Amino acid sequence: MIKLFPWQKTQIQQIIEMSKQKRLPHALLLSGPDGIGLKKFALFVAANRLCLINEMQQPPCGECQSCQLFLGRSNPDIKLIEPEKEGGQIKIDTIREVVSYASLKSFLNNNMKIIIISQADAMNRSAANSLLKVLEEPSSQSMFILLSHRPSQLLVTIRSRCQKINFNPTYENESIEWVDGAFNNSNFSSDLLLRLAGGGPLKVKKLLEEDYLDYRVNLLKDLDSLNKRNTNPVDIAKNWNEFSKDKIKSAETTIFCLMQLINDLVRLKLCPKMENIVNIDLIEDLHGISNTLDLLKLIRSYDFILLKYKELVGPMNYNSLAILEEIALFWKNYNHSMIMK
Ligand SMILES: [Zn+2]
Repeated sequence: MIKLFPWQKTQIQQIIEMSKQKRLPHALLLSGPDGIGLKKFALFVAANRLCLINEMQQPPCGECQSCQLFLGRSNPDIKLIEPEKEGGQIKIDTIREVVSYASLKSFLNNNMKIIIISQADAMNRSAANSLLKVLEEPSSQSMFILLSHRPSQLLVTIRSRCQKINFNPTYENESIEWVDGAFNNSNFSSDLLLRLAGGGPLKVKKLLEEDYLDYRVNLLKDLDSLNKRNTNPVDIAKNWNEFSKDKIKSAETTIFCLMQLINDLVRLKLCPKMENIVNIDLIEDLHGISNTLDLLKLIRSYDFILLKYKELVGPMNYNSLAILEEIALFWKNYNHSMIMK
């Protein structure tokens, strides 16, 4: 039967407590970093709530009709909604369907239907308003579970109608051990992988598939060479833009990585403790570069890149190459001029 990840114990306990006190809400909002396993947690809660034998008192039994259908991915009392493609929106038609589904009686004998909305912040305005209406008139026969890595992007009115369950980034030993077992990677330590994944263990898979770990070494070299006069920022930006076939993804990964590296450079200046550093294996190179740069300028560079990141992932369609060129030029001109003075 479905199992939770080891770092999700506190949150399931919270829900079991609510259930024991008959206070299980009609809408939950699960939030946490990418890779923390929100979808699996929501499915576990759904299977558990619908289990005809245990019903939140113990883990789902795995035997009853509801659990059997769940295992066959065909439990009619669970509906999972998510954007059709990565980065896509959840539109009003989808939410209208969900609204009419929620108004039906449950199919199995448990008087409950569960609707999971993954990446809930991807709902467009009209979809969100449509969902809000249902949340305003809750039914005792359906429960909504919204999932989001960016809950602040949800309508305040939606957030206020949900019981919030938060997952913090995890760097505990049990999570490091889980990464060890799940990815069995001999080239890099699981501690490093988890730091780079921002405390979202499942995200490690994506980093390994993308060759993120080698890419970050190249990016650090680029930052260093941009500080030297003969390097052309336009050429560097072009390489960044072509890191993967998908240009937006290239730019997103590049900017994310630059922010991690610059963050480390800042931290090395402020408080050079190993536990604060993400790229622990590059510590010597980071030290070397950090020594040549000015703290205030580093912080401003970070802010500039963050601003560009928001442009890239925001609703306006910015050109990814243009954004990367701006970043490379900013880094070169801004940090370089400091050294020459
Ligand atoms: Zn069961």
